[in-house]
Amino acid sequence: MNYKIAVIKGDGIGPEIVDQALLTLNAIATKYGHTFSCEDLLAGGAALDVEGIPLPKATVDACRASDAVLLGAVGDPKWDNEPGGNRPEKAILGLRAELGLFANLRPATVFDELASASPLKKEIIGSGFDILIVRELTGGIYFGSRGTEILTEGKAPNALIERLSEGRSIPAGRFAYDVEQYSEFEIRRIATTAFEMAMKRDRRVASVDKANVLDSSRLWRAVMEEVQQSYPEVTLEHYYIDNTTQQLIKNPRQFDVIVTSNMFGDILSDEASQITGSIGMLPSASLGEGKFGLYEPIHGSAPKYTGLDRANPIATILSVAMMLRYSFDLKQEADAVENAVKKFLAEGYRTPDIFTEGKTLVGTAECGRLIADFV
Ligand code: NAD
Repeated sequence: MNYKIAVIKGDGIGPEIVDQALLTLNAIATKYGHTFSCEDLLAGGAALDVEGIPLPKATVDACRASDAVLLGAVGDPKWDNEPGGNRPEKAILGLRAELGLFANLRPATVFDELASASPLKKEIIGSGFDILIVRELTGGIYFGSRGTEILTEGKAPNALIERLSEGRSIPAGRFAYDVEQYSEFEIRRIATTAFEMAMKRDRRVASVDKANVLDSSRLWRAVMEEVQQSYPEVTLEHYYIDNTTQQLIKNPRQFDVIVTSNMFGDILSDEASQITGSIGMLPSASLGEGKFGLYEPIHGSAPKYTGLDRANPIATILSVAMMLRYSFDLKQEADAVENAVKKFLAEGYRTPDIFTEGKTLVGTAECGRLIADFV
């Protein structure tokens, strides 16, 4: 088969780690007889340098015309003092919005060989864990109504603030608000993504909310239960967010798929990645309707490591595995990439970020070459 991939290498370590991931993709193409047509595109600081904006229209158009997008990372200290609209990171939010990507998938997996890198005790990790966090990406409080007002003594606040305060008097001074809001449509489509993912895994969904306090969570819970009716093989359990943050460190092995709102997902996915102990190992996918998706490591552009041959490319290589699995339905090929990474670790190779005594230290390029060879 022929697949069209938009490649955005980005800034910092982005180009180095993407180059290694492309080596693995080429190895898959050769082994299984596929053609991956890759087009290099500009976004982030690299686009600011050339075009003066972080996300050129040509990049968005080319992404739309592709089957999937592979992204390294964006961000460069050179642009830190730019006004908000012109920062490299704007490219990520812009791409998500322009490409209609509403589901963020973040696996948090501990490889047996790296169990000692986790800050959790050995007896908690056991033989490792494999969680998939499905975070809603385009709704909730980050996209709800917001505002900042200065309330003055004796002057009635505007109608919205009056409603938000539910009759309680608000003392004069500065006042800011952000509204958590979800439509049935938004919850239903993220629920469907979560149940579909669970069908490809251990068939367990944990839905995380704050239904003891929030109306939006009560709607979330009700819609989750409705969607579950179409997936009788999948079990659904509800968790409160506060309890989930504890359960994740107390017994992460209890979870298979976790589905949650934009803000709770933002927090939980960072907690989950920390307990794996190795940020350079974790891939992610952002999916829209259908099979299209954007795949990227969860980490940023780690500018201090640029060009030093010490960045770990495995998160990006595993992002390619997710692309093969979720956008192209190439399960065997995705397994081959993941097995090549396991072999790399099992044979004792380590990049500096995961290095321990007695292992073989390799740089970015050598890591990429070995994993492609193992494919
Ligand atoms: P970062 O993830 O780039 O780096 C944090 C630390 O993690 C680094 O100092 C490094 O020690 C380690 N690290 C990250 N990736 C690694 C890898 N592949 N191999 C080895 N070690 C690795 O986060 P930051 O320092 O907060 O941000 C740097 C820049 O990246 C900023 O400009 C930020 O805005 C941007 N950023 C971009 C994305 C994205 O492109 N999606 C995400 C997060 C941050």
